Amino acid sequence: MPPDPASRGAPVGGPVTIVGAGIVGICAASWLIRDGHDVTVIDADEPGNRCSFGNAGGICPGSVVPMGMPGMWKKVPGWLSDPQGPLFIRLAHLPAALPWMLAFLASGRRERAEAISAAMAALHSQTIVRYRDLVAWAGCQELLVERGQLFLYESRDELEGDGFGLELRRRAGVVMEVLEADALRQLEPALDHRFSHAVFLPGQAQCLNPHRLVQELAAQFVADGGRIERALVQRLETRDGQVRRIVTEAGERRIGTLVMAAGAWSARLLKTAGIAIPLEAERGYHVTVADPDHAPRIQAMWARRKFVVTPQEGGLRLAGTDEFAGLDAAPDMRRAQKLLDQGRELIPGLDATSHTMWMGHRPGTPDSLPVLGRDGRYVNLLHAFGHGHTGLMGASVSGHVIADLVAGRRPELDLAPYRPERF
Ligand SMILES: Cc1cc2nc3c(=O)[nH]c(=O)nc-3n(C[C@H](O)[C@H](O)[C@H](O)COP(=O)(O)OP(=O)(O)OC[C@H]3O[C@@H](n4cnc5c(N)ncnc54)[C@H](O)[C@@H]3O)c2cc1C
Repeated sequence: MPPDPASRGAPVGGPVTIVGAGIVGICAASWLIRDGHDVTVIDADEPGNRCSFGNAGGICPGSVVPMGMPGMWKKVPGWLSDPQGPLFIRLAHLPAALPWMLAFLASGRRERAEAISAAMAALHSQTIVRYRDLVAWAGCQELLVERGQLFLYESRDELEGDGFGLELRRRAGVVMEVLEADALRQLEPALDHRFSHAVFLPGQAQCLNPHRLVQELAAQFVADGGRIERALVQRLETRDGQVRRIVTEAGERRIGTLVMAAGAWSARLLKTAGIAIPLEAERGYHVTVADPDHAPRIQAMWARRKFVVTPQEGGLRLAGTDEFAGLDAAPDMRRAQKLLDQGRELIPGLDATSHTMWMGHRPGTPDSLPVLGRDGRYVNLLHAFGHGHTGLMGASVSGHVIADLVAGRRPELDLAPYRPERF
C-alpha cells in the first residue's frame, strides 16, 4: 500500500475534544495532556463503563491473527448451528449486518489476511511498552502483569489446523513454545486434562482490572488538568471542511480538534457528518467468578471454543462470544451462562457460586483493523475507534498516534492500513 499522506502533515489546532471515555479515548487523553494540550473528554457515561469495562485484559503483541481467515466461511454454518459455538446472529439483525459480513468474509482471502496481520503486528508491537509508561504515570503499575499467554488444543490435528495462524505469528517474530500435555499440566494444574497440546507465548501481558485501568488513567488525566464532562453527543455540525460544533443534550460545543473515540457508537455519530463506516457491535460476554480456590495463573484461550480464561483482581474471568444483534438489543445472558458451563469443563471443580455476568459491544470493522488517523474530509477530525476484539491492546498505541498527529509529530506507525477511506 502507498504511504498515507494523512500520517504526516501540519498539526491540527485548538483545544482538543474527545468523544468517548473508554480505554481508547482515555489513552488518547492521557498522552495529549502529557503533551500539555487543553483536553476535554465527553461521555454519556462514567469513564470505562461500556466495552472497556469487562474485557479479558489481554495486552498481546502476539495478537496478529485477524478474525477473518482463509476458509473461515466453511466453519461459520457449523458455529451458527452449535448451541455451544462462539458465534450468534440474531435473525432480525441479519439484513442490516449482511454487507458487513460479506466484507468480513472478503477480508479472509489469504493475501488480504496476511496484509491485515502485518498491520495488526505493527499496531500491537509497542502496546506493552506504551502501557508500562501509562501505568507508571498514573501510579497503577500493579494492574499490568507480564506472564505470557496460552492457547489450548485438544489434539495434534487441531494444533496443526491452526497452522496459518501460527505462521502469521512466526512471521511477526512472536516467540512461541509448543507444550505437550505433561508440561502443560505442570505449568497450569487447574486446567482439564483433555488438552494434548498448548502453545505458550511468553511475551504477552494482561491487565488485572480493565475497568480500574480506565478509571486510574482518567483520574490522573483530571489531576493533570484535563476535563471529563458527562453528556450524550447527538450530532456533529460541519462547514467548509471542518467540524465546527458538536451538539450534545447539554447544548452546543465549539470544536478546535475533534477525536472520535466513541467505540461501537462512532459510526452512528459520524453519519451525522455524512461519513459512512461499516461498524458492527460484536457483542461479547463475560462471567467473573469471585475468588475461586483453584484457577490458572496465565491467560488461556481454549482454541476450539474460542473463549478466554483470565485471572483478575478478586476473581477469574471467562470471556468470549461474538453476537451480532446491533447496538440496541437487550443482552442475552444465556450466552454468559454458556461461558460459565464451558468454564466448568475447562477447570474441573470450579466453584462459581459467586459470580457476575456482563455484555459489552466490541466496535468491529470487517477487516479487524481500527479506524485511526486523520479524516480526509474534515481537517480537524481524527479517528480512534473500531478496535474490535483487540481494543485494550490497541488503545495505548492508538492514543499515542492521536497525540502525535495533534502535535504535528510523525507517528512511528504507517497509518495507511487504518485510514477511514479504505472502506
Ligand atoms: C468479552 C470481551 C473480551 C475482550 N477481550 C479483550 C482483550 O483481552 N484484549 C483486548 O485488547 N480487547 C478485548 N476486548 C475488546 C475491547 O474491550 C474493546 O475493543 C475496547 O474496550 C473498545 O474501547 P473503546 O474505548 O473504543 O470503546 P468503549 O469502551 O465502548 O468506549 C466508548 C465510549 O463512548 C461513549 N459514547 C458512545 N456514544 C456516545 C455519544 N453519542 N455521546 C457521548 N459518549 C458516547 C460510551 O459511553 C463509551 O464510554 C474484549 C471485548 C469483549 C466484549
